[in-house]
Amino acid sequence: MPVEHTVQDIGITELADRFGTPLYVYDGNGLRDRITTVRERLHPRLEVFFSLKSNPNIAVCALLHAHGARAEVSSMTELATARRAGVAPHDIIFLGPGKSRTELAACLDEGVAVIICESFGELELIDRLARERSVTARVALRVNPEFAVKGSGLTMGGKPRQFGIDEAQLRDPSARELLCGLTNVAVMGVQVYMGTRILSEDAVAENTRRILDLAEGLSAELDFPLDLVDVGGGLGVAYFENEKDLDFDRLAELVNPPLDAFARRHPATRMVMELGRYLTAPFGTYTTRVRYVKTSMGENFAVADGGTNHHMAAVGIGSFVKRNFPMKVLNRLDEPATGDWNITGPLCTPNDTLGKKVPLPDVRPGDLIGVECSGAYGPSASPVLFLSHGHPAEVLVLDGEAHLVRDRDRPDDLLRNQRLPGPALLNRTGSAAG
Ligand SMILES: *Cc1c(COP(=O)(O)O)cnc(C)c1O
Repeated sequence: MPVEHTVQDIGITELADRFGTPLYVYDGNGLRDRITTVRERLHPRLEVFFSLKSNPNIAVCALLHAHGARAEVSSMTELATARRAGVAPHDIIFLGPGKSRTELAACLDEGVAVIICESFGELELIDRLARERSVTARVALRVNPEFAVKGSGLTMGGKPRQFGIDEAQLRDPSARELLCGLTNVAVMGVQVYMGTRILSEDAVAENTRRILDLAEGLSAELDFPLDLVDVGGGLGVAYFENEKDLDFDRLAELVNPPLDAFARRHPATRMVMELGRYLTAPFGTYTTRVRYVKTSMGENFAVADGGTNHHMAAVGIGSFVKRNFPMKVLNRLDEPATGDWNITGPLCTPNDTLGKKVPLPDVRPGDLIGVECSGAYGPSASPVLFLSHGHPAEVLVLDGEAHLVRDRDRPDDLLRNQRLPGPALLNRTGSAAG
């Protein structure tokens, strides 16, 4: 019997047969252990907010929430997802550079913990909406800081950005006047997000220290209370061969002292960290079934039933050179690699390449190819509607039981929102406009 990939003792062949492919499989025990460990190691006053952007599946959100995660959301649907997953408004923050009037109104009506405001224009709109409702809006300012700290896959600070308000603009006397003119906004916090895919413990600690300092400075200068400070997050995971996972014990050792000093100075301030990828990425496997194998000009191709339409990140992230995610033939783990394989999907574009020249055992039709470390920025960050294939199925395995947590899209699901104009219109000939 060949050795196959298992999730909590359930074989991948069984999962693929039962739920079909292409399929995302999430290891629920892994997710649970991760949030638990993060909460145990980091300062007890630090609240972990799960960024739904990284994996908006409602079951994933509910599971993380059941083990202590709160929610960071950026759209109406993410807000509804968090609420239906059981997260109380008090434990939800709403963030994003282009919030609509409807989204802001929903934040006020639901009573989320805080709206993270990203511009002066937004501040005025929040004020107006709160006045119409005779409520006071709780707002934290997202700051685009002057400083940047090296070590992030995508740096945010110290650059022109559409995110947040420039630190210099907040330090200008006019900002104070503007804040004083707001009647229904209570500015009561600061948020800074320094970037994503940070794999340096020192960079995380340095970011945290500087953000806490900045928050204290701005609250003193602009004279607002610090009810909430959000130090961002952006903790990365190792995807590629030259990368190394964060040493979380060391990270905690470096980050906890500044958090503790701040906590003592501000006994009532909510301290927030936002985590997406770090909570979810390692615990998802994208599973596709090989339909055809072929060679072209001396290279091997395995054409699978799912590709970059469900996993755009596999094309390459943060790099112009294609680097492969960890990939395996899941149903024959024990066989050594014998050749290099291009793993492609069903799209009619050469870009639909999940893996380029991946060393694998001899691939055969029917094999299950797994792209590992795929629990974050999977289908939701992919062109799932390309060629109208739709969203793949998602399965959550928890304590040895597999649960379908999202059905794959079927043609009717995708056609439901399209409208066919009447035949009289379609059959018209020539130009009727003149
Ligand atoms: C995307 C994003 C996150 C989540 O990022 P990860 O790298 O997945 O942890 C958190 N906060 C903000 C402001 C973001 O834009």
